[in-house]
Amino acid sequence: MNRIEVTEVEKKLKVWKNIKFYFPYKELTGVPKWRTAVLTCMDCRITSNVFGVEDPGEMTILRNAGALLTPDSLRSLLIAIYELHVRNIFVCGHTQCGGQMSQRRMDKTINKISKQAHSPPETVLEILGVKNASQAFLGFEDVSQQVMKTVSLVKNHPLISPMGVHVSGFVYDTQSGEFVKIL
Ligand SMILES: [Zn+2]
Repeated sequence: MNRIEVTEVEKKLKVWKNIKFYFPYKELTGVPKWRTAVLTCMDCRITSNVFGVEDPGEMTILRNAGALLTPDSLRSLLIAIYELHVRNIFVCGHTQCGGQMSQRRMDKTINKISKQAHSPPETVLEILGVKNASQAFLGFEDVSQQVMKTVSLVKNHPLISPMGVHVSGFVYDTQSGEFVKIL
């Protein structure tokens, strides 16, 4: 396993900092040049360059486990649409997603947290503000179906649909690097 020390990660950040003398992005605002936001997974195999982003300021990227519409990603999408003039939304799931969790897997994860955090499972659920493991992790089985569902939820959301935003869905194949358009 290539575990990288925190200091090494910090050094990488400094490279970015060191180019400040010719930093060409000073004039950028938070409004993405492409008027596009992608809602994608937090998976480390997905980086901004897989979407063709080469420079800061091009696209807004929202990420969570599974590329799901949650209260927090909805909040971010509303800010993107109403404040940052986003008019295209891509929902992008991917193959081999860790969000593909069976009921059994979600229950096991709650138990794992319970053991390692020294809290009974009921307390773990209570802390998370949910009633059960599936509410905690929102696991799904099929990525394409989940992307379709999320596209539909975003497209038909009462606060999004009046804005005429174009919403489409893709699945990124983490082994071939190809995108398959779902919707
Ligand atoms: Zn994922």
